[in-house]
Amino acid sequence: MGARKGLKLRFVLGFLVIGSVLLTAIIGGYFAMSANKSSLTAGYLKSNSQYAKKLSSNTSELIQIMIKNMDAIASMAGKESLSQKELDNWHSASEQYFSDILIVDSNRVVEAVSFKRNGIEIGMVLESIASFEAVKQKIPLISDPFVGSKTNRLLVMVSSPIFNELGEYVGFAAGNVSLNESNALNKMLSEHFYGNGSYVYVADKDGHLIVHPDKARLNELITDNEVINKAVSGLSGSQKIVNSKGSSYFAGYAHEPILGWAIVAQTPISVLDKPLKDLILTLALRSLPIFILILLIAWYVSYVISKPLFDLAAFSEEAVLSTSATRSKMPKISSWIYEVKQLNQSIVNHISLLNKEIRLDGLTGLANRKTFDFTIQEWLAEDIPFALILLDIDHFKSINDQYGHLVGDEVLIVLASHIKGLSRSNDVGFRYGGEEFGILMKFGTIQTATLLAERLREAVAAEPSPTNGSIFVSIGISFADGKISDAKEIIEMADNALYQSKTNGRNRTTVYDSKNTGQR
Ligand code: GH3
Ligand code: MG
Ligand code: MG
Repeated sequence: MGARKGLKLRFVLGFLVIGSVLLTAIIGGYFAMSANKSSLTAGYLKSNSQYAKKLSSNTSELIQIMIKNMDAIASMAGKESLSQKELDNWHSASEQYFSDILIVDSNRVVEAVSFKRNGIEIGMVLESIASFEAVKQKIPLISDPFVGSKTNRLLVMVSSPIFNELGEYVGFAAGNVSLNESNALNKMLSEHFYGNGSYVYVADKDGHLIVHPDKARLNELITDNEVINKAVSGLSGSQKIVNSKGSSYFAGYAHEPILGWAIVAQTPISVLDKPLKDLILTLALRSLPIFILILLIAWYVSYVISKPLFDLAAFSEEAVLSTSATRSKMPKISSWIYEVKQLNQSIVNHISLLNKEIRLDGLTGLANRKTFDFTIQEWLAEDIPFALILLDIDHFKSINDQYGHLVGDEVLIVLASHIKGLSRSNDVGFRYGGEEFGILMKFGTIQTATLLAERLREAVAAEPSPTNGSIFVSIGISFADGKISDAKEIIEMADNALYQSKTNGRNRTTVYDSKNTGQR
């Protein structure tokens, strides 16, 4: 039913406004969110890039400290042979860097080892590439990471050549950095946790992981990692990456210049979720009162705009459905909208025209039979005394026959003009049907009604008619004086009196008298 009738304008306007406000809010929220997202993204990328660079320079410093440390031990070992106690003391002092310190001769035979032996025995021959390199190059070195043969630890060996007082090469001093265990290097690199999922990892120049929160992944080759490759090749910077588990990160990377290591600090992209959620929530909460206000205003404005149209539409609908008797009153429309004003004016004009046409007789312009019925009922209901004058043209049929219907019509029009001319404001002149007319005289008495009837009859007879002859009418009068409340009866009485006039020779007026009802 609703769909067939169409949507109400108020709802359409309301939803239009709600829709556009919502859409604006969503678009605004989206832009605010993406602006915030890109500034947060830029912030994380920048801070991670700076952090990776800082770690790189710290790492370089640490490497230099470790080399210096080994240089000092080597130069001491070159001057005099170090006692076990002295070596242990050295180890205690540099324990944060090295898991063990060795003195090795030029044939890679371990001459001395600090108290933490980690499976290394005096007299054993070192077989690591690092030890071969140390003997071969005879310069301070930091080895590539290698797996210790005895303990399976991932080690980096810091070594420094030992020359005796004659300047002859006699071996090297070495400090092993165990990457699996806590040491100054991985401590420094692992202190990046803010509890937001950020972490640091480091790969050597060949792409082996040497520092990673997940110790099980140490020594893993990660040459498919884009930022590691960039950092190994000497670049530093930042970008978004996806890690091996498919999670996205803001990664900052830097190149460590002494050993060519790649240092990466990265933060999961999911850190943006909370601030963005908070932003949306804040935006929503802050704009809610304004949103509600706009809605209320929109609702009110759409009400003001649509109310007159709604009233007009409702009136039209009712007017179509209702019978004339229950026809509702034209609504009073006040609107400042041009279209509504014009529409209303034209409806008012049409309705008043229709009302006239419904009430009046088309040929003569007198009230019609419907209006007569309505008026008589109304006056009876309101107990208004009145007289009913009914008249019928004498021998009208012969006028029609003789002069034609058109002339007959003209006679009817002339008669109607007499009725209009002689009626007062309280009287209702009407066409009862055919060539029968009448006047309802409010408060009409025998005297006034008879006077009017006679005047009318005489006036009609006196005026030259369209037939050029005289027109005569017969008249009957009855009264509603409070005793009779039935319209039919009153009409019958007037009709009876009219019949009397006809039978008594026409062209006369008869007032209804109950003793004088002739036979019909
Ligand atoms: P009486 O004196 O007994 O009244 O005789 P009459 O000829 O007037 O008889 P009656 O009242 O029966 O005739 C009515 C005639 O009025 C019949 C019909 O053709 C004619 N008539 C009714 N309505 C119209 C109308 O609108 N126009 C015209 N021209 N004639 C009408
Ligand atoms: Mg008649
Ligand atoms: Mg007649």
